[in-house]
Amino acid sequence: MSRIPLIAGNWKMYKLSGEATDLVKALIPAANSVDYCEVAVCPPFTALSVISNLVKGTKISLGAQNCYPEKEGAFTGEISPAMLKDIGCKYTIVGHSERRKYFAETDAFINQKLFKLYEYNLLPILCVGETLEEREAGKMKEVVGSQIKKGLANVPEEKMQTTVIAYEPVWAIGTGKNATPEQAQEMHLFIRALLGEIYNATLAESIRIQYGGSVKPSNVKELMSQKDIDGALVGGASLKSDQFIPIIKFRD
Ligand code: PEP
Repeated sequence: MSRIPLIAGNWKMYKLSGEATDLVKALIPAANSVDYCEVAVCPPFTALSVISNLVKGTKISLGAQNCYPEKEGAFTGEISPAMLKDIGCKYTIVGHSERRKYFAETDAFINQKLFKLYEYNLLPILCVGETLEEREAGKMKEVVGSQIKKGLANVPEEKMQTTVIAYEPVWAIGTGKNATPEQAQEMHLFIRALLGEIYNATLAESIRIQYGGSVKPSNVKELMSQKDIDGALVGGASLKSDQFIPIIKFRD
């Protein structure tokens, strides 16, 4: 089963509209030139509109970094999947470790977001990953397994098919210290096997599992060469075209 790798840039709380415009303009020719991966950018909410217009007709897909699991309502400051669909998003990141840590997001809340995204045909990128303490205690599979099971609770097979998983060890995010290709592959294989248990082997083989955590031009090739790594969720290195372009072109 061939899975098209997804290289997605998570711009976090960076980039004013003009800066986002400049960056995406620089990325378009690179994204249009590769046929072995899909490229997505996830700007802050305030830049979604301008970037949505810029990427129309290009090979760059648009993603959001978060959503609130209601269609609309009195939820001051929140953004709904309906709004994200309306603005042209294809993907939405859910369960990023920064949201779990700083905004106390639980697996149950993340699960609600998935269901609301499915209602609007948005593709979730579900982030999972263990902390350094958990890894050092040898608990990474227990932790990630629990996040997967609870995050995906009651998700039917046809919706799972539209879901991307991002394995992001928390100790590797924004630290410059990436998981080794072997460490990442071991966890990706574990996640795929778990999806095989929850669903079935055919479905598990078709799901894209991205790696995230200090992906940069110097390590992307080796990480992407692993059998079960199907792309990257890139934070810091997606903010500069001279770093993100070589990541997009990891096979050139
Ligand atoms: C991320 O924010 O999802 C991420 C992986 O960040 P970084 O690439 O900076 O480690």
